[in-house]
Amino acid sequence: MFQTFEDTSDPSKVKTRVARLRKALRARKLAAFLVPRADEHQNEYVPACAERLSWLTGFTGSAGLAVVARESAALFVDGRYTLQAPEQVDTRIFEILRVPQNKSSDWVKAHLKKGDALGYDPRLHSVKAIRKMEEAVCEAGAVLAPQEDNPVDAIWEDRPPPPVTPVVLHPLEFAGEPASRKIARVRKTLRKNKAAAVILTMPESIAWLVNIRGRDVPHTPLALCFAILPAKGRPELFIASKKLTPDVRKVLEQDVALRKPDDLPAALAALGKAKSRVLLDPETASRWFADRLDEAGAQIIHGADPCLALKARKNRTEIAGTRTAHRRDGVAMCRFLAWLDARAPSGTLDEIGVTKKLEGFRRQTGALKEISFDTISGAGANGAIVHYRVSEATNAVLEPGTLYLVDSGAQYLDGTTDITRTIAIGEPTREMRRHFTLVLKGHIALAAARFPKNTRGVDLDPLARVALWDAGLDFDHGAGHGVGSYLSVHEGPQRISKLGTVALEPGMICSNEPGYYRAGKYGIRIENLVLVAPLRKVKGGERPMMSFGTLTLAPIDRRLIDVSMLTARELKWLNAYHARVLREIGPELKGKDKAWLGAACAPL
Ligand code: ZN
Ligand code: ZN
Repeated sequence: MFQTFEDTSDPSKVKTRVARLRKALRARKLAAFLVPRADEHQNEYVPACAERLSWLTGFTGSAGLAVVARESAALFVDGRYTLQAPEQVDTRIFEILRVPQNKSSDWVKAHLKKGDALGYDPRLHSVKAIRKMEEAVCEAGAVLAPQEDNPVDAIWEDRPPPPVTPVVLHPLEFAGEPASRKIARVRKTLRKNKAAAVILTMPESIAWLVNIRGRDVPHTPLALCFAILPAKGRPELFIASKKLTPDVRKVLEQDVALRKPDDLPAALAALGKAKSRVLLDPETASRWFADRLDEAGAQIIHGADPCLALKARKNRTEIAGTRTAHRRDGVAMCRFLAWLDARAPSGTLDEIGVTKKLEGFRRQTGALKEISFDTISGAGANGAIVHYRVSEATNAVLEPGTLYLVDSGAQYLDGTTDITRTIAIGEPTREMRRHFTLVLKGHIALAAARFPKNTRGVDLDPLARVALWDAGLDFDHGAGHGVGSYLSVHEGPQRISKLGTVALEPGMICSNEPGYYRAGKYGIRIENLVLVAPLRKVKGGERPMMSFGTLTLAPIDRRLIDVSMLTARELKWLNAYHARVLREIGPELKGKDKAWLGAACAPL
């Protein structure tokens, strides 16, 4: 299994750990210390050695920040974790506050006195995050105190070592473009910015750039490393040599110089000595890089990591790959859904059992490299917890008369998938069907949208909501996120959400995932991945428009659809989608599975 179900947090040790940290803070003359859930790369998935936040607080969510002061402490989490955090964390030690309604900088301002020092590890915070904190600290008359060695690491006795997994080459048949060409394209951006070099701190950018993959973190095939790409001369890749076999080394050395991670400070100092203009992404690069460059005399240009925009627009090979990956994943999903429908009415299945079965169907494809995230397997009320992670302690039975929400994905060499289906277990209520159909209307509105050049995600996000809004309902997450190609399942820069300020462009992959969550009762989400299609003339129109093509192939539960609520156009979309699922997946199925798919895709 790529997923575990034990409770990884251990709240019993939190009290002594926090006490030891406070002792260390007193010794360092720090009034407070920041503990983010971040590694040196600002990764979504971090290696075990970087799980400082969960080690200290017990909170295992994928985002969060603790501030530990001498007498008080707070944990900042977002809306996905407001239910989970109080269950995992000793609330007598940590006050739990929700962002963005509460700001950690405000808390710091209120809890620091004049002359106090706020400690932080400059490797773990982005340039932008520390800039915000700096203002608050200044207003309190206090100072920021970067710590070269992290005080949490100093007291964390059995801290796991950094991961050293083998780097593999991502072949051209999947990448579609050689590293040399990608490097040349990034250099164009450097020339535009009049930059002498760019610092690359995101492993997914480097993975894309030089066509490598690794296994350093769960679920995303990354090799942790850094790179410096100069406008002229050889790019330098800073990576532990133990990760490279002689064969991989030979291929990489055609395009880059291989360096030890320890060589990085000297390389940054050299850029400073030459007074170079250096491009650095303030959102993703850590403050440590800015400090090194600053001290050495480099001129920092703040701008987005140039790989992000290039990586987001998939090339022809990647698009063909994702289609194959989605057909393969669709077969596994359809076999799983057929199995679920046959077994669920008995009322004997539980969340963990179903999750294992789903991974089993994906393994049977023979192509599964990893799951793209921990499967969200939510029966009944658990489905209403947006980022629910099933554990032995929470494992619930799929009861007749409830809804079951399953959000899962796979990593294949040719593509990354992410799909959510909500399934009726037994007979659904009228209310469930009404809510499901409202979510479906949002899903179809986005899937069938046409939009002009320069349309941003924020412009499209409301399409997924208007039907819900009209009924006085809404959901508290974005309607979609970018997706990588055998890389991160959450990939920028585009997203379909209130924060989606980047224009959508042909070749980008996004999720389309509106939902509705009734706390304590059920969760509904319908998620397909879509590909942005090129601008095309619209019959009888004046301006060319882009549109989405749906990639994901699995039926949407017909039993939950109230057809009387759909417009003719919506019904036509749904029937056409199901006809296509049947056409593409049907020939891959046999016997009972095939019969099930035929019924699940029958026109309404
Ligand atoms: Zn998903
Ligand atoms: Zn998603």
